[in-house]
Amino acid sequence: MKSQDIRNRFLEFFKTAHHTVLPSASLVPQNDPTVLFNTAGMQPLVPYLLGRAHPSGKRLVNIQKCLRTGDIDDIGDNTHATFFEMMGNWSLGDYFKKEAIEWSFEFLTSKERGLGLDPQRLYVTIFKGDEIVSCDEETASIWRNIFSKHNVTGERIYFLGKEANWWPAVKKDSDTWSGPTGPCTEMFYDLTGRHTAGMTFNEYKEADAQQQIVEIWNDVFMEYVKENGTIVSTLENKNVDTGSGFERIVAVVQGKDNIFDTDLFVPIMNITKTLSSVVKSQRIIADHMRASAFLIVDGVVPSNTDRGYVLRRLLRRAIFNTEKKYFSELEISSIVDAIISVYEDVYKEIKDKRQQIVDEIKKEVEKFNITLVQGLREFEKIKKGGIISSQDAFKLFSSYGFPIELIVELALIEKINVDLAGFNQELKKHQDLSRTSTEQKFKSGIVDADDETVVKYHTATHLLHQALHDVLGAHVEQRGSNITSERLRFDFSHTQKMTEEEKKRVEDIVNEKIQAGLLVQSKNMLKDEAINTGARHLFSDTYGEQVSLYFIGETIDTAYSKEFCGGPHVENTKNLGHFKIQKEEAASAGVRRIKAILK
Ligand code: ATP
Ligand code: MG
Repeated sequence: MKSQDIRNRFLEFFKTAHHTVLPSASLVPQNDPTVLFNTAGMQPLVPYLLGRAHPSGKRLVNIQKCLRTGDIDDIGDNTHATFFEMMGNWSLGDYFKKEAIEWSFEFLTSKERGLGLDPQRLYVTIFKGDEIVSCDEETASIWRNIFSKHNVTGERIYFLGKEANWWPAVKKDSDTWSGPTGPCTEMFYDLTGRHTAGMTFNEYKEADAQQQIVEIWNDVFMEYVKENGTIVSTLENKNVDTGSGFERIVAVVQGKDNIFDTDLFVPIMNITKTLSSVVKSQRIIADHMRASAFLIVDGVVPSNTDRGYVLRRLLRRAIFNTEKKYFSELEISSIVDAIISVYEDVYKEIKDKRQQIVDEIKKEVEKFNITLVQGLREFEKIKKGGIISSQDAFKLFSSYGFPIELIVELALIEKINVDLAGFNQELKKHQDLSRTSTEQKFKSGIVDADDETVVKYHTATHLLHQALHDVLGAHVEQRGSNITSERLRFDFSHTQKMTEEEKKRVEDIVNEKIQAGLLVQSKNMLKDEAINTGARHLFSDTYGEQVSLYFIGETIDTAYSKEFCGGPHVENTKNLGHFKIQKEEAASAGVRRIKAILK
């Protein structure tokens, strides 16, 4: 079965079960400054899992683009990618464990409507209970019934603790975590076909450690409310959040033991195989170039901070893994075209932005090529000291743009040591890393919705967007937005520096609208209907059929600002304070950036 068929079958299966299909959100979270990238399907849905009504209803299904920088060191193994897609079905206070688990099983095993996987090769884990919450017997009995109904025999249900089967998983700061929480059940598939008779718990653990079985799906049941680390009540509206790694599912369906041999990667690997003879390097190049292409599509450009820095590191690590330590223009185009050939039917933006992707990668290759030579010269000097100190490593890293992997590899050739621990400390001080742990992601959702100042900046951003349009012209389009409790930052398409006069006019308009005490209202409507109101939106094809429209004014017709947006916003502009532009600068070619505050 082709990956495209798997994609269609998944959406179709849940559509039949009355789920509304949502398109993937951007890799870059909108209006969430605390998270660099969406790392799971649930991330763009956080406000709805916390209780806000979703315009598309209570049953949703999607295939979400994800990026996990935390997995970067695993790339090259059989099952991890930095960029990957996550299939998910969602119940927002609707169905619960029984339906969710039965559907997971049916989709995985049904020959007619699902993937036709062998049920004898499935294994599941369940929360075993602790001093606070008892064993998830309900889930266990659902699985037992399913297995017995389908004559699936042998030992295949295992009970594990919080670290594996509780959401959010127990990590360092989940002690203080507040929000919905609950047990999960994970599904594993036997890649070898040798364990169909079942496994003892120890055999299961051994098979997992040896990557003979792979985790393919995780059904999370949010049924409790936690406050400051303690479960205080049962959730009124219980949610289901499922996540299934698309690449891994494609691998098992296509009978491969790794994601790089699937039709999602083969066209790309065919080219990266010519750039290095080392399998791990071929996989790293393929993975990192694919992730880079998707980042560029979602508006990220290489830079030294935040998202741009992640992209830079991915690209440089890809370059470094080629034997020549360089990509020619032809090689770049071939890889990009291979990536496009895999994804153009799903994400048509990738085809539209082909030239931009090639250009950005080419620029970065040339940039790195200059510092690569200088850095290698610097390295020659440093190596005479017999060790690479943390400062020297950091200098190669920050001034010459050497990924740390390159520094380590060079040191290995010279048989000298690198003070990696010192380097990591140095890096920690300087770098703003993507926070991937789920509890942080979730916390950020709560903080954002609750933080009054952030909400005010969110509304002010809508006013600013419209005012820029009024003053500078119809070409102004949102290119990015980032809000903290200190300021708003707004990127928009415009080629010249704004004059003092223009800035003043924008400020005056925004302040006038604030003083007018306009109502801020929202309405759920059909996408086409919303577009017809003239509302501002990003790329229309990234929205679902139903959208939420925020408008500032008495009615939609007379509103000053209209935008597709999930909120939250203040109720009336009179509460915003005084708006002031602090800075107007270039963000990248053709994109200006405004930082502004409310006093
Ligand atoms: P693992 O332990 O294998 O890294 P995980 O526990 O981090 O997986 P979840 O956070 O539960 O995974 O994500 C849900 C699903 O997404 C997983 O069941 C898996 O199929 C998939 N997945 C997770 N990380 C990756 C990755 N780096 N590349 C591809 N698929 C992934
Ligand atoms: Mg993981």
